[in-house]
Amino acid sequence: MKLDAEQQTQILTPAVRRIMDVAREAGGEARVVGGAVRDVIRGGKIGDIDLASTLPPQRMMEILPAQGIKIVPTGLAHGTVTAVVDHVGYEITTLRHDVETDGRRAQVEFTDDWQSDAARRDFTMNALYADADGTLYDYFGGAEDARTGHVRFIGDAEARIREDVLRILRFFRFYAWFGKGDPDDAALSACRALANLTPTLSAERVAKEILKLLAAENPVAAWRLMMDSGVAAQGAGEAVDIARLSALIEREQKYAARLDGLARLASLLPENAATAEKIAARLKLSNRDGDRLAALAILPEQLRKNAGAQGLRRILYAHGAENVQAALFLNEGDIGAALTVIEAWENPLFPIKGEDIVASGIPAGPRIGEILRAVEEWWIAGDFRSSRAACLAHAAQYGKNH
Ligand code: ATP
Ligand code: MG
Repeated sequence: MKLDAEQQTQILTPAVRRIMDVAREAGGEARVVGGAVRDVIRGGKIGDIDLASTLPPQRMMEILPAQGIKIVPTGLAHGTVTAVVDHVGYEITTLRHDVETDGRRAQVEFTDDWQSDAARRDFTMNALYADADGTLYDYFGGAEDARTGHVRFIGDAEARIREDVLRILRFFRFYAWFGKGDPDDAALSACRALANLTPTLSAERVAKEILKLLAAENPVAAWRLMMDSGVAAQGAGEAVDIARLSALIEREQKYAARLDGLARLASLLPENAATAEKIAARLKLSNRDGDRLAALAILPEQLRKNAGAQGLRRILYAHGAENVQAALFLNEGDIGAALTVIEAWENPLFPIKGEDIVASGIPAGPRIGEILRAVEEWWIAGDFRSSRAACLAHAAQYGKNH
């Protein structure tokens, strides 16, 4: 089968063709593989373009730079190099099969057999290749599965999961993004049966999959399956408020918004910072993500307590527009008016500094900070309207009275 002209232009870009040409001139072949081919078949937007090639990674490291293409050895041990063309990276992985696996990493052997490379991939829809002529290579019926939304393991689901336990989470992630209708029975029962193996995975990899899953347009069905199959309980057992996630998605649709995986995770959790901190630590989230999760745990209640535009601005000043907007979606009720306030929000700059207080004759020391904080609190309570002169006057007054 051949990709149509439109599909070809999407994935056989000039940069991709350049890489393919260099491989062919060196006596090998490179084809586009994985997500890009899957997405073009589905008729969806394509992300990164990955390639598979018959040439060993060391050979790629020679021939691409010789043609002026920058190359980064991103994963030589498993056959991956990254070519950089016009500041875009293209992962090129040598055809391989996995000879030994321990559920976490595989020992690989390079091959020149395309079908063998396809067979070591996880799902049928992820094992599609397109060559320079636009010919589609589909060894396991993946094109049909991509179109119908059938996420299906290549081969025996349990065996494939035992080779690499991360595939459990990948199954739910791909189902969240591309699944239509009921999930594949064999895949789901294998995930259920082997859910207890997921603690052997690194927290970072689990977190990455969970956040990617939850970033799907509507992850509700997939997350429910994660819960029902006992997989969610292994790393995110507190994330059970599926009704709140559903409500969040509905509100996103109503306001044509799309929140990220972390905000969706927050919606599944109870509204308390301690739980957010616990799960952030377990999933080894970055400090930034952990702080954000904790903020999203407490902000909805703060929003309920500080009604009105002025109350909202007070919270915006303390927490920033990004978190407050997400928190707004986590709450029930109408948010149209609040969104207008957030759109108009520009973080005001507190107009006075410590040196201003010093200049007024108060000696440097802890007293300066105390006065500053008091004036800032007064300035916030006045909805950020007071001028620099008014703040200085208030500081002088405060200095006299306290
Ligand atoms: P995305 O759009 O998220 O990038 P993708 O399908 O490209 O989706 P990647 O994680 O980038 O996913 O992996 C690229 C390809 O490598 C996959 O399509 C799949 O063929 C293969 N692959 C990745 N991870 C695994 C795995 N754990 N087991 C088997 N095959 C895998
Ligand atoms: Mg990819």
